[in-house]
Amino acid sequence: MTDVAVVGAGLTGSLLACFLARRGHTVTVYERRPDPRTGGAERGRSINLALSERGLDALRRLGLADRVLVDALPMRGRMIHPVAGDLDFQQYSLDGQRAINSISRGALNNALLDAAAATAGVKVLFEHRLTGLDPLVFATPSGEVKATAEVVIGADGAGSAVRGQLLGMGLLDESVDFLDYGYKELTIAPGPDGDFAMDPGALHIWPRGTSMMIALPNPDKTFTCTLFWPNGGTSSFASLGSPAAIERHFATVYPDVVPLMPDLVDDYRLNPVGLLGTVHCGPWQAVTPGGPVGLIGDAAHAIVPFYGQGANCGFEDCVVLDRVLDEAGDDFAEALPLFEARRRDDVEAIAAMALANFVEMRDKVASPVFQLGKRIEHALERALPGRYVSRYELVSFSTTPYAQVRDRVRRQHQVLGAVGLLALGAIGAAIVRWRR
Ligand code: FAD
Repeated sequence: MTDVAVVGAGLTGSLLACFLARRGHTVTVYERRPDPRTGGAERGRSINLALSERGLDALRRLGLADRVLVDALPMRGRMIHPVAGDLDFQQYSLDGQRAINSISRGALNNALLDAAAATAGVKVLFEHRLTGLDPLVFATPSGEVKATAEVVIGADGAGSAVRGQLLGMGLLDESVDFLDYGYKELTIAPGPDGDFAMDPGALHIWPRGTSMMIALPNPDKTFTCTLFWPNGGTSSFASLGSPAAIERHFATVYPDVVPLMPDLVDDYRLNPVGLLGTVHCGPWQAVTPGGPVGLIGDAAHAIVPFYGQGANCGFEDCVVLDRVLDEAGDDFAEALPLFEARRRDDVEAIAAMALANFVEMRDKVASPVFQLGKRIEHALERALPGRYVSRYELVSFSTTPYAQVRDRVRRQHQVLGAVGLLALGAIGAAIVRWRR
């Protein structure tokens, strides 16, 4: 039994605490915020997540999936909103039945905190902000508190203080690739009848080339919209300086949502612009004089949100760490390097796929060529069941390791390219024969 300090009671840290306690370790989770179950979300930072198979698989292992899904709404496809013209529903899976699940990050975090707090061997201390790693020091409302632990795991998010401490000790390198896009949350209110103003069974997308907006449904019949737009320049968050400019812009670019957003101007002006980026760092673990230290979730590998996988990936991290602890007989000094060796390629693969999906969602989903491609893809999935599976299905509806998804899709595309060339060659030969 090891005495473990988990820093951060976000999504990954809370779930990890449950996994570690199940193994018999004693876990103290240190969280810088006050208990979120007793207060509301910060303005414009509610974020609803798409929870998919990898996250659900991790939750099922602890018997938490059904409880969490009570607060979720299934989305079976994307609903594309053009500037003018009809909406276009594109189902995610071949059978149209598989769904990703819209859930508020706050509701999910609260459910996981409840689970952690109810698990024997877990203690959660709020308002404890890590300020020192070796020795462990936390800033609290009543002053500085020192603590001890045999192992420290940093689950403290993209701006991880644990990672910062390791960096300061010269024990890791890091780089953060910030996207030149930020995001802002807006809200679609319920319709006049109190029901959803749009189809709640879809993830709504307004692809506009230089910008993109998405909306996910909430159980209170609202939708949380996230607008992605460049941070600077003539067409950017900075370019709308007055209520009239905001209204004009939305009426031109997102005309169908303006009547559904009674608080558009206030939301736009008051909600912050969030940063987006990919964290690269390594190694994800080190041995300090105080003992082994590891990183997990966004602290090790924050990614951009365009595949809806950040939290799912953090949950899958917990499953992988649990597995390598099995292999290492619960010796963290052995398990943490093994975790990194098993996981790094997968995480790099999803980081790259998430960036590529941004371009797909922003630029391509509305194009007839893309839509034809999706129809061909579904036809191939039908013709070659289990042999041709789309990247979206593999990422969102399976637990196939991300790197295997990347490699398999690459092979599928190579075969398709070769088949396409063969088909073109055959057509060319037929034309030549016909001309003779
Ligand atoms: P975090 O959620 O950031 O939690 C870290 C915790 O550590 C926090 O509670 C924080 O208060 C605490 N902390 C920080 N510093 C300290 C300190 N010094 N001491 C103590 N505690 C500290 N993911 C999906 O799977 N699907 C999606 O659809 C999706 N959509 C997203 C949309 C947007 C706009 C964004 C920004 C992200 C999205 N994500 C999505 C990603 C997801 O939110 C993150 O991957 C996930 O929250 C990471 O969980 P985490 O626990 O690793 O980090």
